[in-house]
Amino acid sequence: MLVVSTIALTSAVLMAWRGPAYGDFLLGLIVVSLAVLLVLAFVRLQADHKVGVHIGDLVEKHRRIEELHRVDSLTGALSRAYFLDAFKVQMKGEGGRSGLALLIIDIDRFKWVNDTFGHDMGDAMLAHVGRVLTTRFPGALVGRIGGDEFAIAFAGPVSDKTCRWAGERVLETLREPARLLQRTMQTEATVGVAWAPEHATSSDDLISRADLALYEAKRAGRRCVCTYDAGLMKKQQYDSFITRELRAAILLDHLELHYQPLVNLSDGEIVAVEALARWRHPVRGLIPPSEFIPVAEDSSLIELLGTWVLRRACRDARLWPDIRIGINVSPKQLQRPEFADSVVDLFAQEGIDPRRFVFEVTENILLESTERHKDQLNRLRSCGVRLSLDDFGTGHSSLGYLREFTFDSLKIDREFVKDLGQSETSRTFVAAIAHIGRGLGMSVVGEGVETEEQAKMLHAAGCSYAQGYFFAVPMSAADLTEYLKSPPEPVVPSDWPRSLAGRQA
Ligand code: C2E
Ligand code: MG
Ligand code: MG
Repeated sequence: MLVVSTIALTSAVLMAWRGPAYGDFLLGLIVVSLAVLLVLAFVRLQADHKVGVHIGDLVEKHRRIEELHRVDSLTGALSRAYFLDAFKVQMKGEGGRSGLALLIIDIDRFKWVNDTFGHDMGDAMLAHVGRVLTTRFPGALVGRIGGDEFAIAFAGPVSDKTCRWAGERVLETLREPARLLQRTMQTEATVGVAWAPEHATSSDDLISRADLALYEAKRAGRRCVCTYDAGLMKKQQYDSFITRELRAAILLDHLELHYQPLVNLSDGEIVAVEALARWRHPVRGLIPPSEFIPVAEDSSLIELLGTWVLRRACRDARLWPDIRIGINVSPKQLQRPEFADSVVDLFAQEGIDPRRFVFEVTENILLESTERHKDQLNRLRSCGVRLSLDDFGTGHSSLGYLREFTFDSLKIDREFVKDLGQSETSRTFVAAIAHIGRGLGMSVVGEGVETEEQAKMLHAAGCSYAQGYFFAVPMSAADLTEYLKSPPEPVVPSDWPRSLAGRQA
């Protein structure tokens, strides 16, 4: 424009000064300049348009990349990083005022789903959970914060009752049957809940509190909701203490192994003993297995403990050549691919016959049975180790699973045995379990027998063996040796086989 105005002004001046001929020439020059300028402006506009389109593309791409990072593509829930950011913001707002509940949801047996139905089913289940949580709880902040872990934050008035209720609703909603890859599946989950401002005022602290509650819910058997309370923090500190001290106790050989006899109910003979770990802490005194075994199972300590128990049992077993030894094996140990081989090596090193050992596994192993568990159990069985299904009736037992594994014996949990004589239901259960066990070729053992009446009823119900304080309490290897040399004088009831009389130690 400046150029055109300059030329126009110059031609006007020249026309006035030199006459119209110069004016015509200059007018032509202006027209040509204008045409050139128009062409240049057009080219510039085109270029600008292209750049504009390009920038638009870039913005859209950037938006999509953001979206991809923001939302977990498989589940539609917020990705971990975005959830944590958004949750932090909510904690600063609602968390400090009206209240904010954080639920951490862990899908139960997800590994089993993957191993049994394939990874496509695992993905379908995760997508289903994401869909359910984002659509059925609108307004809540939903994120996928781990492989099979989700989090939901609800803003609003919070209390133990409302948070527990919210957790139950989540479990119920997930439990509704859904068609996934041509199968009808139910998703079971476990929930831990903590809320602000009561439990924490920072997002990191609230997440760790909800995590603690989740951990507790898993310990309580899963498929449930656990809410945080200050006691859980103390428990966590105690668990860390147990982990530290137990490692040292195992390495320093400070544990003891006790043995509890199993008797044949038809002749009273002691046919086997069960090895039970005992820990006498120098300051805290006797710590029961119910306190240290779950902690060991949650860490790699259970492997160390298992090896210690087996080695000690192999050595003690030489003292009683006619008696089999029962060893409790945790599912965690069976998860290790090299478990069976390491056991076989240990038997070889100790020069002991594997047929003298009975490995006891709890029925929850059936629930989470994977090919790996099966391989390990089959490998052990093929080298002569017997297998026993422990604590039967207390876990999530399904008779269908019994077809998948071959067990040599089945131990009826003491929960059923303790009510024998008082509850008709218990008697019916015990008789039914004994019938199924025998029908499947297993010998059936009653656990936790404390009275003569219970022993008699087990016998009448078809159990072959029994174990419990009525016969003998767990005792050290030295005490068992003495006990076997001279069992206590039996007190024989008139209608009871002589050898079965109480052998209280
Ligand atoms: P379990 O395998 O079912 O062992 C039987 C438990 O019942 C033992 O408890 C035993 O002392 C107790 N008991 C035996 N007779 C009676 C009775 O008449 N009445 C009552 N009330 N109880 C009786 P303990 O030694 O406290 O062991 C508890 C659990 O800890 C065991 O249950 C087992 O699952 C686990 N455990 C013990 N030692 C080991 C171990 O070395 N490795 C592993 N993985 N688990 C172990
Ligand atoms: Mg046992
Ligand atoms: Mg048991």
